Amino acid sequence: MQVQHVAQSPGIAGGPRPLAFVPPDVPPQAVLDNCVHCGLCLPNCPTYRELYREPSSPRGRIHLIRAVAEGRIGLDAPIFREQMYQCLDCRACEAVCPSGVQYGKLVEAARAQIERALPRPLPQRALQWAVFTGLFASPLRFRALVSLLGLYQRSGLQRLVRQAGLLRGLGLAERERMLPPIARRFLVPRGQVWHPRGSPRGRVALFAGCVMSTAYADVTRATIRVLLANGYSVVLPAGQGCCGALHVHAGLLDGGRALMRRNVEAFATQAVDAIIVNAAGCGAVLKEYGHLLAGAPGLAERAEAVAGRVRDVSEFLVERGWTPPTGRLERTVTYQEPCHLTHAQGIKTQPRALLRSIPGLRLVEMAEADLCCGSAGVYNITHPELSGVLRRRKVANILATGAEMVASANPGCMLQLRAGLDEAGRPLPVRHLVELLDAAYDLRSSSGVH
Ligand code: SF4
Ligand code: SF4
Repeated sequence: MQVQHVAQSPGIAGGPRPLAFVPPDVPPQAVLDNCVHCGLCLPNCPTYRELYREPSSPRGRIHLIRAVAEGRIGLDAPIFREQMYQCLDCRACEAVCPSGVQYGKLVEAARAQIERALPRPLPQRALQWAVFTGLFASPLRFRALVSLLGLYQRSGLQRLVRQAGLLRGLGLAERERMLPPIARRFLVPRGQVWHPRGSPRGRVALFAGCVMSTAYADVTRATIRVLLANGYSVVLPAGQGCCGALHVHAGLLDGGRALMRRNVEAFATQAVDAIIVNAAGCGAVLKEYGHLLAGAPGLAERAEAVAGRVRDVSEFLVERGWTPPTGRLERTVTYQEPCHLTHAQGIKTQPRALLRSIPGLRLVEMAEADLCCGSAGVYNITHPELSGVLRRRKVANILATGAEMVASANPGCMLQLRAGLDEAGRPLPVRHLVELLDAAYDLRSSSGVH
């Protein structure tokens, strides 16, 4: 991403003083100090694996953050800005670091510093405002836009536009291909409650977010049915909205915190066993609300309490014990691990255990299942080339398995995989793992959730 140059302020000796980190959201010194520069994270880093350059590695990026913290370079140094955004924030480095360096906290804070200190040119700021404030911060506007996209798909306009190649000339064809089939009916959180047959085993609240309650509303309905099949009452609290993950990744922490505040208010008073999430990216950031809102007066404690109850749906089902489905699904399936499930939340075995419990389903492992697919928030838009390299690498690994279907657990990955498989001329179905469980429970008609 290009950012506008800002002149450095003069130093005490008259020379330019490097532009320094300024509170709040300074990359934590304690996290920086944990890095012993061993380099064990390098082979796990997708950008290092593609580019083989030290600055494009976790260790190199930590060096750069330290250089700014120590005043050796300014945060407007081109290499610093380039590397803070070239990083996918996939957190694969964290997962293998023997010193427990919480790299995500460093890069997300570094991006927040850049965004605050180096205002973008006006057109970029306007676009940023339209997307992050105009759309993601307003469930109403978000639903309106996704409705229009659904209409575009179902009216036949999409087919005509694609056939005429209209978007190719505008350079938008690639992005348009990412559109998922939009659900016909959205799931608007209004405090609805669903109950299982018989006496409930417990009660959970569902986080439906923005994309999962609109474009992927059918996946969220499947999630509700799976929870009902396992004996839980499910409540969809009113007032919830986007989790703020995209804002955190983009360094827009102030805007993200406004959204987090809304979700804390919506979930803090719910008397439930857990807050269930079916999107890995949302789950990862919701679990960090305590840290992200630590300085928010009157909110910090409740944010910590909400974060402590968040569970990915696969994590929850395995933790509590799930009812194995009885319906057969005669399919060979491979599982793509979302970075924010496997690296950020350490959830690796649970999705596989659930998939293996479906009668007839054969799970085949792809190579590099935990390597980022290149989706990474808006990375496929901001860094289309590197994202494309990672997407093609992932697709090659999927196709090498001979699987008929791909399962995953995050909307961004699902979009990226679909686009990549289409691009390769092998459009295998890509499904959220709860959709497969739901099909095997076969409760669509009897659950009242359809
Ligand atoms: S982040 Fe961890 S694995 Fe990577 S160089 Fe530092 S200490 Fe080693
Ligand atoms: S978050 Fe991912 S891309 Fe960024 S340094 Fe770590 S492993 Fe590399």
